[in-house]
Amino acid sequence: RFEGVPMAPPDPILGVSEAFKADTNGLKLNLGVGAYRTEELQPYVLDVVRKAENLMLERGDNKEYLPIEGLAAFNKVTAELLFGADNPVIKQKRVATVQGLSGTGSLRLAAALIERYFPGAKVLISSPTWGNHKNIFNDARVPWSEYRYYDPKTVGLDFEGMIADIKEAPEGSFVLLHGCAHNPTGIDPTPEQWEKIADVIQEKNLIPFFDVAYQGFASGSLDADASSVRLFAARGLELVVAQSYSKNLGLYAERIGAINVVSSSADAAARVKSQLKRLARPMYSNPPIHGARIVANVVGDPALFNEWKAEMELMAGRIKNVRQKLYENLSSKDKSGKDWSFVLKQIGMFSFTGLSKAQSENMTNKWHVYLTKDGRISLAGLSLAKCEYLADAIIDSYHN
Ligand code: PMP
Repeated sequence: RFEGVPMAPPDPILGVSEAFKADTNGLKLNLGVGAYRTEELQPYVLDVVRKAENLMLERGDNKEYLPIEGLAAFNKVTAELLFGADNPVIKQKRVATVQGLSGTGSLRLAAALIERYFPGAKVLISSPTWGNHKNIFNDARVPWSEYRYYDPKTVGLDFEGMIADIKEAPEGSFVLLHGCAHNPTGIDPTPEQWEKIADVIQEKNLIPFFDVAYQGFASGSLDADASSVRLFAARGLELVVAQSYSKNLGLYAERIGAINVVSSSADAAARVKSQLKRLARPMYSNPPIHGARIVANVVGDPALFNEWKAEMELMAGRIKNVRQKLYENLSSKDKSGKDWSFVLKQIGMFSFTGLSKAQSENMTNKWHVYLTKDGRISLAGLSLAKCEYLADAIIDSYHN
């Protein structure tokens, strides 16, 4: 009976927020979860989201079930945002798009598709990667292995290791790639490196599988942040892309995202879509409507779309400012001569500090700064006012 159920360990990312809540010290700082905060460290609802919601209220939109594949207007704009509206993959109807339960649910649905129609196929994931990737493939019973990605010596990309490991993958494997703003390292391949990655994937008959959780958040430009995915699509490759609107529209709790499967023909895409629906139906029947409507209204309306881009630039700009200020504080206060420039080179919401597990624990136990045990800090949860305190905590933890 239930007496025999053992206690599960806390989640390595969401567990950090639970520990933060329980801390009563006034100096505490939550840099664990990747959620955007204002300079006052408050959650932020985008103006365009409020406007879209007002529109929905005014129209008196109903709460009927969505079809299994989700809201048609959402599926259309989400694929266009990702690939560009004029992309041949869209014109040729080669993309099967299904609304998912944000990035996580969309990845999980793709994993279920792999498990069912590519039995035994392996997914290659970067070392390190977002903590939940392993859980998702484990629970879907999809085997995975890691490819080298992060080089602690250079605090940069181990490009040669990455290429060598991808070359070794069995034919027909999936290669999971972060479309932009790699989590947790904040280190992305250069455009030239993306071309080489595509070369190897093409040569070895592998299937690229993109996780796009930060479109617009890495560079501030939606198009630039989708360039990796578009490069692969332009080669005529089949690919899988999971999307999330948690970060770029701040819709964390609405659970809105999509899975896009690009096939070699419209016919195959229709069949893939039918199977994605078949997998979704017994799991959650059909997806929620609210977030889908918000995205459809914002992306589908030229005025709101432009406002969204301006707000996203503001968010990305605030993160760049705290990145700069943190770097300046680290460089001026640390007398050891350590080179902190990696903080500036990393992009997106996070900084991968290189702090060990023990050093990360010092950050929390002594300084009340909460971060994941791999030494990742979310700069989206940092204010300019707290940069000096954080720099003190990091320097102390590094040298102790
Ligand atoms: N992939 C990556 C790399 C992420 O960082 C995240 C969010 N932390 C997600 C997927 C999914 O988030 P969500 O399920 O909220 O869309």
